[in-house]
Amino acid sequence: MTVYLDYNATSPLCASAIQAMNDGMQWVGNPSSVHAYGRKSRQEIERARQDIANSLGVSSQRVIFTSGATEANNMALVHFPGRVLVSAIEHDSVRFVRPDALMIPVTNDGVVDLQALENLLAAPYDGPTLISVMAAHNETGVIQPLADIVALAKQYKACVHSDCVQGVGRFYFPWETLSMMSLSAHKIGGPAGVGCLIIHPDWPLNAFLKGGGQERSLRPGTENMIGIMGMAAALRQSRHQDWSQTNRLRISMEKALLTLSPDSNVIGQQAIRLPNTILITMPGVKSETQVMNFDLQGFAVSSGSACSSGKVRLSPSLQAMGVPKAEQETALRVSLNHTTSEDEVESFIQVWSQIYERCSKRSHFEQDDNLVILTNIKRVDNHGALNLT
Ligand code: PMP
Repeated sequence: MTVYLDYNATSPLCASAIQAMNDGMQWVGNPSSVHAYGRKSRQEIERARQDIANSLGVSSQRVIFTSGATEANNMALVHFPGRVLVSAIEHDSVRFVRPDALMIPVTNDGVVDLQALENLLAAPYDGPTLISVMAAHNETGVIQPLADIVALAKQYKACVHSDCVQGVGRFYFPWETLSMMSLSAHKIGGPAGVGCLIIHPDWPLNAFLKGGGQERSLRPGTENMIGIMGMAAALRQSRHQDWSQTNRLRISMEKALLTLSPDSNVIGQQAIRLPNTILITMPGVKSETQVMNFDLQGFAVSSGSACSSGKVRLSPSLQAMGVPKAEQETALRVSLNHTTSEDEVESFIQVWSQIYERCSKRSHFEQDDNLVILTNIKRVDNHGALNLT
């Protein structure tokens, strides 16, 4: 059985989402139909909307269901009638939406540079301003200073949108203080293909899809009732999760890996980070080689964001942080769940040590795109012990 340590890419459905979706599957009915079947579907959607609003401390009118965070991010930014400021480490679904957006730089630890943001806000501009900064970074796990950003925005009468995909359910923040936020169900134990945008109460949003009148005409199309029910249940469950043990595991894992390979670098190490995410370099061993070797040894990890895996490209976020190219090319992301056990982490550390020992000896990426097969390491047994032949 492969140990899954790629929870920032996607997470398994949690028990309450499965239950809610099973309930939804027993039912048929277009929520726009006036008959009893339709009314029941409408009721389920409105119940889920209220539930999500309660979880986030916002009013239910602000919840607009979408196909996920990509759509929500696009929706938030695409038609904003004014100046848009986005951080240099945003997900592509924010970065690519407004080519006219001004870039907010980040520090070497991947934290938004608040002074630079203030300088941008202070520049004369006649019209509304929207700041878009994610809650936490999908690759580094670095948590952004949203409270400071909200305070600055208030001072300069700007609005704040946040891509909260990796933040909600993992740390507490008064989410209701944001003007807009994007959520994705599949990162919090709900299904993929559903998410929402929390809009500003009197937001001049234009729909970028044309069609029916669903979601107050802001997002036309028959609602994904089953997905929406799963998302609401997952969000409710995520509020009760305790990440303190995961945080301890993550910190001890970092220490162990840095002891094994003192030349490794934990990217964003000095910043406040998510309890579950480590982005660490393995000097001399390309990220893809690491991912393939870990896969062979029964561990699912990632070389960066899932959206860019498959295509080998350097991370724009790491570039914006000024991470040297050699480190970008050797970075591995390990993302835990609150269910990840100490045994799993211990086994991972042992396999890390073996892969590092073997692969780093091949100097300067001579292994290149070839898979390095670790023939003399057998699988880790259930108790986390390594069998060497
Ligand atoms: N933003 C961030 C920070 C993400 O990690 C992701 C998923 N990789 C997205 C947006 C896109 O979310 P979705 O898959 O729901 O479109």
